[in-house]
Amino acid sequence: MHHSEETRDLFITGLRNAHAMESQALSVIETQLGRLESYPEMIAMLQQHRRETESQIARLDQIFQGLGESPSGLKDTVMSAMGSMQAMGHALAGDEILKNHMADYMFEHFEIAAYTALITMAQSMGHTAALPLLQQNLAEEQRFQQMLIDSLPRVTEAFLSRTASGQKADV
Ligand code: MG
Ligand code: FE
Repeated sequence: MHHSEETRDLFITGLRNAHAMESQALSVIETQLGRLESYPEMIAMLQQHRRETESQIARLDQIFQGLGESPSGLKDTVMSAMGSMQAMGHALAGDEILKNHMADYMFEHFEIAAYTALITMAQSMGHTAALPLLQQNLAEEQRFQQMLIDSLPRVTEAFLSRTASGQKADV
């Protein structure tokens, strides 16, 4: 297959976008964890995915190093700010816990798509060093996405019963 300079540039751009996406993810998770009080299952899941997200960023940094490139600090900063605004916006929802849960589930879909495209590019370019790192990131997103949808009925039940008994239910 023909590997042009343009193909490499597209891969680097995709990696920079993924790095910024993970900065956004980290900022969303930090904001949600800073507000959560009443849902221990959600707190534990987000703590685990925060650690995974930090590892994912480290893996992307490793890929950049191998390519002699670096992530975009500007994109990271912008997406990180967007992440906290996005999470804070849900504070007005009344059912913040559910709004966050659904938004997190949607975000995992985006991450899964991003890593699927990057893996395809890395395969097409024969950049095999990046593959296990991108595949591990993808696997973590897929697992967290599954955990989110599996836990949603339990969290919804807890939200309903806490609301019905007059306990704090929004976060
Ligand atoms: Mg991620
Ligand atoms: Fe994720």
